[in-house]
Amino acid sequence: RLFIDSPLAPGALRIDGPQGHYLAAVMRLKIGDPVKLFDDISGEWLGVASAVGRRDVMLDVTERLRAREAVPDLWLCAAPLKKGRIDWMVEKACELGVACVVPVVTRRAVVDRPKSERLRAHMIEAAEQCGRTAIPGLAETVKLPALLRDWPAGRTLFFADETGGVPGFAAMREGSATAAILIGPEGGFDDEERAAIRAHPDAVGISLGPRILRADTAAAAAVSLWMAAQGD
Ligand code: SAM
Repeated sequence: RLFIDSPLAPGALRIDGPQGHYLAAVMRLKIGDPVKLFDDISGEWLGVASAVGRRDVMLDVTERLRAREAVPDLWLCAAPLKKGRIDWMVEKACELGVACVVPVVTRRAVVDRPKSERLRAHMIEAAEQCGRTAIPGLAETVKLPALLRDWPAGRTLFFADETGGVPGFAAMREGSATAAILIGPEGGFDDEERAAIRAHPDAVGISLGPRILRADTAAAAAVSLWMAAQGD
């Protein structure tokens, strides 16, 4: 299953570069073999191999299998974490169904400019693996005060707060279907940040339980809760 970074339509499609190498040399595609393709625009298509080279493949794109899915309207706003942890976090956010990831720089964040190309590559791989037909958006990195200042009115901001809040699942079941989850960095939010978030009219402070979770675990747990609460 491959993401194609251009609009798909019936007809011949040459796959080269790393994807061609993957199909020809790693997957050892044979003529007649099927490949599922998606473009984040029109949905998922069936391709059938019509020629296989050493590092490239010709596919005959035949029929559209599925339209692009309607993605649940959930943003994950999260402080950038160290490499490895943030990679895992965006991969899981994609698998669990978020619409968009928003990196938010906070005072204790150890990284202030996450590598967007690497994060997008992880989200594409996760989408290929999990069957998504839409790649989550990756917003520009924003500082916490600007995030709060420019917040779109009416989008509930579930603020995951390890110092306490209403139980997450109950709050999410009552909250709107247009929402975001806010997760802090490894060192958490400081008191001033916490007060500013809590004072925001769209913020709801939630607890994810009595234990302090790693930021990446908290993100996956909160997104799972929201999806379950929305029946997704
Ligand atoms: N030091 C650990 C790490 O390296 O990841 C723990 C970090 S914890 C302070 C990071 C963030 O996860 C917090 O800012 C909060 O958003 C979220 N979090 C962790 N445990 C939580 C809980 N029990 N309830 C709500 N949010 C939680």
